[in-house]
Amino acid sequence: MPSWLDQCRDRVLIIDGAMGTELQARGLAPGESPEKWARLHPREVAEVHAAYAEAGADLLITCTFGANPFKLAPAGLADETEAVNWALARIAREAAPKSLILGDLGPTGEMIEPLGDRTPDEIRDAFARQVHGLADVVDGFIIETMSDLGEAVLALEAAKRLAPDKPVLVSLTYQKDAEGPNFHTMMGVDPARAARRLTEAGADAIGANCGSGIDDMIAVVRLMVGETDRPLFAEPNAGLPKLVAGRTVFDESPEVFAAKAPQLVAAGARLIGGCCGTTPRHIAALRAALE
Ligand SMILES: [Zn+2]
Repeated sequence: MPSWLDQCRDRVLIIDGAMGTELQARGLAPGESPEKWARLHPREVAEVHAAYAEAGADLLITCTFGANPFKLAPAGLADETEAVNWALARIAREAAPKSLILGDLGPTGEMIEPLGDRTPDEIRDAFARQVHGLADVVDGFIIETMSDLGEAVLALEAAKRLAPDKPVLVSLTYQKDAEGPNFHTMMGVDPARAARRLTEAGADAIGANCGSGIDDMIAVVRLMVGETDRPLFAEPNAGLPKLVAGRTVFDESPEVFAAKAPQLVAAGARLIGGCCGTTPRHIAALRAALE
């Protein structure tokens, strides 16, 4: 069945940039639950979504990265998981009625058996509650910043069971090996293996986000090409993190970021957005560079 995702075969689709750093610029304190803050400040969240839509993003990601019951528990919101996801997705939809909206699913922060004490069913059920809240509002899902391939597959299964018609994009976060040209997630998964496993599990697009700037992301995309027939996507950070006065900053300019985007496309990426430190200015520069 054709879906909006098929458009990326003809043109590169643009995903939005960072949410966390944009909310911090509007008052979210370090360590505070972004989802709880977002519910109390819907206007600020809407402003970020609208800014990305105006900058030229085709796809906006809901502010639900940590809206799974495990991550919501410390904020006292675990019981309201479905309602939190629905409300935050509605903010994106209302802020940008013409944009495609992707429901964001991030890591639970829990370890799965045998490394940890959570069962696969518990993890899948946690994602299912998020999907349940998001499904009626969003056009698809993005599972991102995963380092455990097993957890990524459980999130994918939850999305596919409850919303089988909606495309699911799945992305892991890689760091470059100290020696050699390959990359691995914190849990030891390399891009080629992830691409094969996620294809088999039914992901509609496969990608990488966070962890590195655009230079390393080009290398990661090259490692996935040829391992899957699904479109590839990439959301690099605005350069590598730097520690300035005790704060982590990402300072690659929109111009530098956008100037390298054609290389990312040449490597094989069909959807491109930004992760940590990217702003609406980065996305506007990206759009201009790709047109
Ligand atoms: Zn990031």
